[in-house]
Amino acid sequence: MKAFDEYLRDAELAHGHLCAGQVLGVRLAMLGLQKLGIDDPQGKDRKRLVTFVEIDRCATDAVAVVTGCRLGKRALKFRDWGKMAATFVDVSTGKAVRIAAKESSKALARQMHPEIHNQNQQQMAAYTRMSDEDLFVAQWVTVDLPPEEFPGYKGERPLCDACGEGINFRREVRRDGKVLCRACAGESYYKPAE
Ligand SMILES: [Zn+2]
Ligand SMILES: [Zn+2]
Repeated sequence: MKAFDEYLRDAELAHGHLCAGQVLGVRLAMLGLQKLGIDDPQGKDRKRLVTFVEIDRCATDAVAVVTGCRLGKRALKFRDWGKMAATFVDVSTGKAVRIAAKESSKALARQMHPEIHNQNQQQMAAYTRMSDEDLFVAQWVTVDLPPEEFPGYKGERPLCDACGEGINFRREVRRDGKVLCRACAGESYYKPAE
C-alpha cells in the first residue's frame, strides 16, 4: 500500500480539490484494505477486491482512488443509502469488512481544533491524525455476491418485451410470462417529457 500522504495527493488530483471527504475516504479505504490484508490493490491484488459504497459524496472518490475499484469495471458497487460507509469484499476468500464513519468524529474534530473555524479545514486537520477507533466502526460481514455481480461476468442479454432494449447482468424482471426491464416494470427514475 502507498503512504497516506501519497494516496491523499492522488485523491486530490482525481477529485479536483482537497477536502475533509478526501481525508476521510482515504483513511476509510486504507483501513478496509488493512483489515483484509490486501496491500497491493492496484497491482497483484487488483482482482481480489469488490467495494460497496453507500454514499455519493467527496469521500466516495477517494475510496475509488485507494482501492482502484471503479464503476466501469464493476468492482465498485453503489448502494444509495446516504451513509458514510463502505464495505470491502475480498472475493478470493469471501471475507468482507464494513467500515462506517462515526457520527461522533465531527464533535471530536471541534474539540481537537477549536482554533480552526472553517469546518472543512477543521475536519481535515482532525481526521488526518485521529485514531482509527475514533473515526470509524469496523464490522466483519458477509456479502452475497452472485456470479452476475462479479467483474467480467458474461451471460444472456434478453430484450425487454415492452421497450425492446437489451438488459445485462440479470437485471430483468420476469412477470406474467414477460421479460421486462426495471423501467418498464415500474421502477423508472424518468418519464417521457411532455
Ligand atoms: Zn470534496
Ligand atoms: Zn423496457
